[in-house]
Amino acid sequence: MAKSSKKSKPAKEQAGSKSLTQSGAPKAAKSGSAVMVIDGKSGPGAFAGPARVIIIGAGVGGLTLALMLHQRGISCQIYEQASAISPIGAGINVLPHAIRELADLGLIGTLDKVGVRTTELFYMNRIGQIVWREPRGIAAGFEVPQYSIHRGRLQKALYDTVIERLGPGAVVTGRKLAGFIQDEGGVTAHLVDSVDGSGSMTVRGEVLVGADGIHSAVRAHYYPKQGLPSWNGIQMWRGVADFPAFLDGQSMIIAGGMAAKFVLYPIAPGETPETRLTNWVVNVRVSDTPHPPGKESWSRRGRLDEVLPYARRFEVPGFDLVSLIKSTDAFYEYPMCDRDPLPRWTHGRITLLGDAAHPMYPVGSNGAGQAILDARMLADRLKKAEHPYQALLEYEEDRLPKTAEVVALNRKGGPERVIDEVEKREPAGFTDVERVLSYDERRAIVRGYAGKAGYALQQVNKKAV
Ligand SMILES: Cc1cc2nc3c(=O)[nH]c(=O)nc-3n(C[C@H](O)[C@H](O)[C@H](O)COP(=O)(O)OP(=O)(O)OC[C@H]3O[C@@H](n4cnc5c(N)ncnc54)[C@H](O)[C@@H]3O)c2cc1C
Repeated sequence: MAKSSKKSKPAKEQAGSKSLTQSGAPKAAKSGSAVMVIDGKSGPGAFAGPARVIIIGAGVGGLTLALMLHQRGISCQIYEQASAISPIGAGINVLPHAIRELADLGLIGTLDKVGVRTTELFYMNRIGQIVWREPRGIAAGFEVPQYSIHRGRLQKALYDTVIERLGPGAVVTGRKLAGFIQDEGGVTAHLVDSVDGSGSMTVRGEVLVGADGIHSAVRAHYYPKQGLPSWNGIQMWRGVADFPAFLDGQSMIIAGGMAAKFVLYPIAPGETPETRLTNWVVNVRVSDTPHPPGKESWSRRGRLDEVLPYARRFEVPGFDLVSLIKSTDAFYEYPMCDRDPLPRWTHGRITLLGDAAHPMYPVGSNGAGQAILDARMLADRLKKAEHPYQALLEYEEDRLPKTAEVVALNRKGGPERVIDEVEKREPAGFTDVERVLSYDERRAIVRGYAGKAGYALQQVNKKAV
């Protein structure tokens, strides 16, 4: 087992697979979960794929991994349960540590077509007083930009690049992982039609990567007792709308601490030169229970009468949040969830990546970024290591402790904790922020997080030297 498992925070989860041999390779016949047993049949459409790496999930993590493997001459195949990759969702920010990796894939031109180069970040209290501001991306001296981008458009751009570079068959959609098993020679995965469970298909590879998101089936196989993701009681409403540009048209504002927060940034040009496609998020603690609402509420259409009373609690000078929300065609609500860090991601030839490995609260703009960093490390290790077991363990050894730390920091608010600290001391506002929390104290919170998450200036720029 990797050394990292000793360092990482113990998980609530109990490892479900008891079938590991001393070398780390599970015995083929023993599966940890009844759901994941292979039926041994390969029906119509069966495919004995020769790809070295089987990737489950065509999110940002799985698609980036495919591009990185291809760049290193390692064949792979993605299986995605959705019937098509369509640009749905809302905005995210991808920070320079991850953009550095996408730049190495030659994607800066693509990103410029689908995102906005972020220039400045403002942290404010709930009434719009500035707690911290800093330039971002190129404006901050990074060699690569930060992008504010529609998550679905980023995913679609990565997907199109995968198809262009790896070929039209590189992503098989409409296929859900139903089981897998490994032996000394490789991994066999069993996929079915995601709508009706028909059309059994069996594929073979050297390695299987579960890049299948926060509800990962691969993770659940090894941790069958993990239960539901843990909820901090915060409900998030997210939407995008065409709206008049604010500040320089490329800035982001985060107002309020963990319990009541408002996030605002443009993610694309608007319908006119004066407008931008503007992403907004309202986060409010609405519950004390750690149990998230049922799965049907994970992406439920939001209601104006529910979100507007919360939105009215925020004031940002010169910006009309209520009008922005009212002008949004459709917006959606999600519970803010994560999971405890795992003791291990790798089981022989199988490992986890992205949200499947380390789902985290969306503060600090790091979930997708960390998935991209995972992809880089895993591709490098697979290229260099003599054996897949070694590659997967080395990958975990590097990435598990780092991401576990980000998960823990995000529970405390991430870099945005600086707002919590100021609001805690002066909930009604301040006349001089320096008297509430000194510049050095504020800087320590914001830049300390950047260093732990891997996007401090010297961490990103030094790679290019
Ligand atoms: C409100 C909010 C704001 C956020 N803001 C940011 C931000 O600013 N910056 C940032 O970096 N991150 C942000 N994130 C986090 C980021 O969106 C995620 O961390 C990231 O998208 C995870 O990518 P992934 O590829 O690991 O998983 P996903 O994107 O969840 O992809 C998993 C894929 O696997 C597929 N799948 C699942 N199960 C199966 C199966 N059994 N068989 C086949 N396919 C399967 C799914 O359909 C999906 O396509 C935010 C998240 C939220 C909720």
